[in-house]
Amino acid sequence: MLNKTEEHGTSALVDLYQRAPVEISAGEGSYLIGTDGERYLDFGTGIAVNTLGHGHPKLLNRLAQQAQAVWHCSNKFHIRSQIECAEILQQASFADRVFFCNSGAEANEGAIKMMRRHQFANGRPERWHCITFEGAFHGRTLATLSATGRQDFQVGFGPAVPGFVQAKFNDLASVEHALTPETGGILLEPIQGEGGVRVFDPGFVRELRALSAERGILLLFDEIQTGVGRTGTFLACEQFNVTPDIVSLAKGLGGGVPIGAVLCCEAVARSMVPGSHGTTFGGNPLGCAIAAEVISVVLSDGFLPRVREMGRMLGDGLDRLVAGYPEVLRERRGRGLLQGLQTRTAASSFERACLEHGLIVMAAADSVVRLLPPLTVSAEEISAAIEILEDVCRECF
Ligand code: PLP
Repeated sequence: MLNKTEEHGTSALVDLYQRAPVEISAGEGSYLIGTDGERYLDFGTGIAVNTLGHGHPKLLNRLAQQAQAVWHCSNKFHIRSQIECAEILQQASFADRVFFCNSGAEANEGAIKMMRRHQFANGRPERWHCITFEGAFHGRTLATLSATGRQDFQVGFGPAVPGFVQAKFNDLASVEHALTPETGGILLEPIQGEGGVRVFDPGFVRELRALSAERGILLLFDEIQTGVGRTGTFLACEQFNVTPDIVSLAKGLGGGVPIGAVLCCEAVARSMVPGSHGTTFGGNPLGCAIAAEVISVVLSDGFLPRVREMGRMLGDGLDRLVAGYPEVLRERRGRGLLQGLQTRTAASSFERACLEHGLIVMAAADSVVRLLPPLTVSAEEISAAIEILEDVCRECF
C-alpha cells in the first residue's frame, strides 16, 4: 500500500525527519490522499494544525479574497485582518492585547521576552528566570529548547540559554524548591502534547496561579497544541479555571497557514513599547485573514459543544479498546480531540501500523500515540478510526 521511500526521498534536503514512505498530493475534509491515490484518515492533522480539516470552503473563500487584495505588507502600516483577528481573540479569551508571529517556538520566545520585560519595567530586572516542567516541549529555538530541557535535543548546540529551571510534573514542593528571587515566570502546557498527552492536575495548576500571583511571578500557558478549541473549549485554561497572564498560540490558529500569537493582559502589554519586539512576517494580511476565519468558525454557535461531543465519542471508543486489549494498550489520556493512547509497544511502531491500515496518528513521548482529528471530524470517521485501531491492536496481540 505504501509508496517506496526511494521514489520520494532526495538528498537536496537537510535530513532531519524520519519520514513515512508516503507522498501526500491532496487533502479533502478529514482525509489526506497519497500520490498513489491511497486515502488516509487524518487523525494527525499535521500535529494539531488542520483545525477545520483540508479544503474547508470558508477558508478557501477567505484565502481567494485575501489573495486578490494583498498578501503582505509591513507592520509599519495598519492591517485590517490583523486587527480583526486580534479583536476576535480578545473577545474569545482573557487577552487584552495580542502580538502575532509565525510559529510556536516564536510565540514562546515572545511570551518569555514579555515576561522578562514586564519584570524589568516593574523595577525587578533581576527576575528573568523561568520555571518549566519535566516532559515539556516548547520549541526548537535556542531559548525554547532550553525551556524544554531535553538533553537529547540540545546535544551539539553549545551551552543552554540560562534562566530556565525545571520542576517536577504536578509537584508543588518541587516548584517551591525551584523558586529563587530571580524567578519571573512559570511556563507550562496545561496538557503536555509532545510529552505524551499528560494532563496537569487542575488543583495543582490553581495552586500555581495562587503562588505566582502572591509573589509577582507571571503564569505563562503554552497553548500551542491545546488552544483554538482542540480540547473542547477555546483555550484549555478555561477547563482548569485559571486565568494566565500570557498564552502562546500557533498550530491550529492558522488551520494550516503558519501563524503564531501571544495573548497577554494589559499589565504585560504595557511593558512592551514600539521597537522592543517585532517580526517581518508576523501578523501579515494573508495569515491573519485565514486565522480570523478559523477562529470565527470555531467560535460559531454549536461548534465547541460538538467538539466536546466528538471528544467524548472518541474517548469512549478508546476506553473500550484499552479495556479490550490490555496486552497492547495501557491507558487513554486527554481532553476533547486531543487524545493519547499509551501503548505497550513502541509508539512509533504503532503509528506505522496505523498508517499501513490507512489511519494517520502521531507518536509522542511516554509510548503514546496521539489522536488529533480535525475539529470538524464526523461520528462516522471516529467509528472508522476506532475500527482501524482495533485491527492494529488485534495484530499486535
Ligand atoms: N509548544 C508546544 C506545546 C508544541 O507542541 C510545539 C510544537 O510541537 C511548540 C511549542 C513549537 O511549535 P513550532 O514547531 O511551531 O515552533
